[in-house]
Amino acid sequence: MVEQRRARRRDKILVSACLLGLPVRYDGKGKALDHALMDRWREEGRLVAFCPEEAGGLPTPRPPAEIEGGKTGDDVLDGRARVLEKTGRDVTAEFIAGADLAFREARLQSCRFALLIDGSPSCGAGFLYDGFFSGTRHPGFGVTAARLSRAGIHVFTQTEIEALQRRAFYQTHKGRCNTLNLLHNFHLKSIPI
Ligand code: SF4
Repeated sequence: MVEQRRARRRDKILVSACLLGLPVRYDGKGKALDHALMDRWREEGRLVAFCPEEAGGLPTPRPPAEIEGGKTGDDVLDGRARVLEKTGRDVTAEFIAGADLAFREARLQSCRFALLIDGSPSCGAGFLYDGFFSGTRHPGFGVTAARLSRAGIHVFTQTEIEALQRRAFYQTHKGRCNTLNLLHNFHLKSIPI
């Protein structure tokens, strides 16, 4: 019973579906993240798999796409940049639709965190490719990462999974952490100098 209550209190995490090995990437493959925390969170039912590009109506496989001109997902959301496939096709509307649906899913499932794969023009949460399909990286959020972050969802990349765990632990035990901090401070202040 106590364990059930604890499980309910633990926050859910929206995850790039390809990080769970689902074959949704542009090349029709997955990119499973092999980490003990993924196994644990999966067993606890905390992972919500989502692929914004498929949700936005794009097929799999599909041509690779990048945000044009070294811009970011925030620029796309604000109408200052487009997302273009390597073929030149404009897929901005599909990317924005996918980002909106990712946010809707996160809200429906009460996800306070997102674990997204880096480099993607949708899910990238640390770096992106610069729009010239040359393999050159630059820092920034993809369209979905920017949409979720603007909505107050804490976004982490797959390389930050342990930081996510620490943050989630703190959120879950915030009341207790504050009490412990107060006790700790009181104890320090009460030591005679
Ligand atoms: S949109 Fe996100 S979840 Fe879908 S394939 Fe690209 S990186 Fe993976």
